[in-house]
Amino acid sequence: MLLGGMNKVFIQTYGCQMNVADSEEMFAHLAARGAVLTDKLDEADTVLINTCTVRDHAEHRAVSFLGRLSAWKKEKPGRVIIFAGCAAQRLGKALQKKYPFLDILSGAKDIELFSETLDKSGLFGMPGESIQPSTPNLTGYVTIMRGCNFACSYCIVPSVRGPIKCLPVEDILRDVARKTAAGAKEIMLLGQTVNAYQEGTVSFADLLNRVSEVPGVERVRFTSPHPIFFTPEFLNAVKDNPKIARHVHLPVQSGSSKVLQEMKRGYTREVFLEKIQALKSCGFNISTDIIVGFPTETEADFQQTLTLVDKVQFFIAYCYKYSPRQGTPAAQMELLAENILEERLDILLNKVRGLSEAAYQSQIGSVQEVLMETETKGRSSENFWVKTKNTYPTGSLVRTKIERAEGTLLFARD
Ligand code: SF4
Repeated sequence: MLLGGMNKVFIQTYGCQMNVADSEEMFAHLAARGAVLTDKLDEADTVLINTCTVRDHAEHRAVSFLGRLSAWKKEKPGRVIIFAGCAAQRLGKALQKKYPFLDILSGAKDIELFSETLDKSGLFGMPGESIQPSTPNLTGYVTIMRGCNFACSYCIVPSVRGPIKCLPVEDILRDVARKTAAGAKEIMLLGQTVNAYQEGTVSFADLLNRVSEVPGVERVRFTSPHPIFFTPEFLNAVKDNPKIARHVHLPVQSGSSKVLQEMKRGYTREVFLEKIQALKSCGFNISTDIIVGFPTETEADFQQTLTLVDKVQFFIAYCYKYSPRQGTPAAQMELLAENILEERLDILLNKVRGLSEAAYQSQIGSVQEVLMETETKGRSSENFWVKTKNTYPTGSLVRTKIERAEGTLLFARD
């Protein structure tokens, strides 16, 4: 029982940035009950495991970490173990049966109820007046929506996170203000299809503009968007706001309309290319994710992916071999031979390898606005790393001309 004493919390987060933000949010509720962070498991009184289930591997790692905590808990039986997030949602009570020493199970759909969950457990005190701001970070991660209304045939997210739930604008702005008060200069808005945000009359573009007006916010980023929500209205609403970073990570997954349809992505190759053109015309630098070897992908489909990469010239492309996720429709489909997957991945990786360097080279002579992450290094609005000659305070914005590029680093004149 942790009531009354100093509660040291060790956090283990698996998965995406949304999980990192969720861990922060959960910790804020623990901090409001007097908890402090520790990075030493041995010293901890509470372990919070925030889990991911997008890939089998991530889920296995989280569950095996939980299994190893059996001895940790035996050492001091008053210790508390919280298992939260997507794997907690998917595996549910079965987990508590298998690991009876697990104290609190909190699924991804119940993050908003975490405070109540803590209270109901009776293991923590009642919250104080205000939730403490998170530790100062240059980038503040702010979740604006949870869940997903799509049903991509290879993805487990809709079944563990449920349909979209947008957070109220006022709550989001309050969270942003809390992050800037703690030292954040850049805000990263998070959601599974972040640009589908709509709350009453407030669209995603409206929200971006409102967030950029919060005192202390120098730059706003977002991830992960879905192509279909990049409408002309969106671009019109944000194109004149320099605080909205000119970088979009836009997963394409395949260059073949036929495969995209089987993946149930909700767009064709042509639509994706139209969106890219519109985004590029507003100065957005584009990175992407690509899956090779989806079960129905033919050689001709794969060639379409290669030509799409040539056309778009992504800034970065993260490439993955298709791997089935149990519980998804695509997991029922017959797999391509492993050697085909490996061969295609090799070809694609060879194609994308030089893309970043070429993008960096293309910036020589340009003027960049750099948000300094150290005294001599920061990131531009387009997400290029820039090294400065002079030193600047961390968190300051520096406008400077680019003199040269080496690999994936730009060198500034000043
Ligand atoms: S858009 Fe598709 S891939 Fe992305 S979370 Fe939703 S279902 Fe999964």
